[in-house]
Amino acid sequence: MKFAIVNGLLWRQGRLEPLGLALFQGRILAIGSMPVGFAPDAVLDARGAIVLPGFMDLHTHLEDRIGSFDLADSCRSGTEIAVRNGITTLFNFVTQQPPESLDEAHARARRKAAGNLWCDYGLHLTPTRFLPADWEIILEKARCGFRTFKFYTTYRQAGLFCSYEELETIFQRLAAAGAGCLVHAEDEETLCTAGSAELDFFRPPTHARMRPPEAEIEAIGRILPIARRIGIRLHFVHVSTREGAQRIRAARQDAPVTCETGPQYLFLDESWLHRADGHRWLCSPPLRSAENRASLAEAARQECFDLLATDHCAFRRQDKDGASADIRTVPNGIAGIGALPHLAAQLLGWPNPGAIPSLVRMLSENPARVSGLWPRKGTIAVGSDADLVLVGTRKPEASIRSSLSDCHETYPGFPAVLDIRAVILRGTPVMLEGQLIKEAAPRGILCQRP
Ligand SMILES: [Zn+2]
Repeated sequence: MKFAIVNGLLWRQGRLEPLGLALFQGRILAIGSMPVGFAPDAVLDARGAIVLPGFMDLHTHLEDRIGSFDLADSCRSGTEIAVRNGITTLFNFVTQQPPESLDEAHARARRKAAGNLWCDYGLHLTPTRFLPADWEIILEKARCGFRTFKFYTTYRQAGLFCSYEELETIFQRLAAAGAGCLVHAEDEETLCTAGSAELDFFRPPTHARMRPPEAEIEAIGRILPIARRIGIRLHFVHVSTREGAQRIRAARQDAPVTCETGPQYLFLDESWLHRADGHRWLCSPPLRSAENRASLAEAARQECFDLLATDHCAFRRQDKDGASADIRTVPNGIAGIGALPHLAAQLLGWPNPGAIPSLVRMLSENPARVSGLWPRKGTIAVGSDADLVLVGTRKPEASIRSSLSDCHETYPGFPAVLDIRAVILRGTPVMLEGQLIKEAAPRGILCQRP
């Protein structure tokens, strides 16, 4: 399909310019003047809108079983709320559940996604067994271009825990294969000590006592020297403390380390856990103090974080509310995909156009780099995928909607701030003026990394 976008203000090379776009076979064919003889099948008039690279959410959990609960969102509903809000690529996690191999886990995730994606989709792999046969598969995946293997320094009972010594070995082998890692950093020993104290497990704020900031700071402090020694590309997921983020930022001087935080840590604090329905906001890491929230938001505005990602992990209302009053039985996780672009824009000062550079870096460019998709995605350049979001200047009337599934809203009453007028996925419009283009059917694909 040949497609043209005209009359918009295009974000390119760090500024807005009144340039048109010619799109062909899913990619950007030309920027500015149309190529000679280019006769588009359709033209989109972007008057009054700015044209940005499509947004990405690098951290979601969809269509999976966690503990004894099925997640509320399927691949289809999760990717639909994404494109409705300008996100054109989501990354989901696949955890190996022995006796299955990592290959089998990967195939299982691909089957769920097939034909059900409204946006493009990538997978992070979480190996949980490290026998020689497992390593063969892990290294084969790395050779095939998998860049993002995820590891945990906690969740021993769920079979996810890796000691710092084990991480060192893993980093060595993956770095040698050219892969990178994602790490969930909370120090298991600190968590065990905190969780064994005299605590009232019938009050949601106790959850924040059980997973204190020190656990995250300690783990980051232990992992960084290992990463620096080995030189592995390492990305810290959902960093929720200012000190943790500062340590990572300092380490960037001489190590390829990056980090993300989520909008929940920038807009919500522990006071939400004190509500009568506070259990609905139980997530890990937990919501922290108001002071931590404010300083984290300041750090995010200064781009102490490379990117923002949601850790979307929505449970059904009945599962969140139906557990016993003991908070240790409540499933941990909240929704966020649909909120991400709006809250990021709000944080950065939108509708002030000064928000755009940071918004594009944190929602498009850097997620594409960390996932290994740059420059195919995350930028508006000739040859790149034509994943685009057209943002208007109207003030949306709706409130944020984080998910289309039957889960509790994480940000009730928070206003949507971005006027998402159109979303283009690999050269084809998938959403126009709030309406999904049904003929576009779910046409998202699984991203292959070179
Ligand atoms: Zn997660």
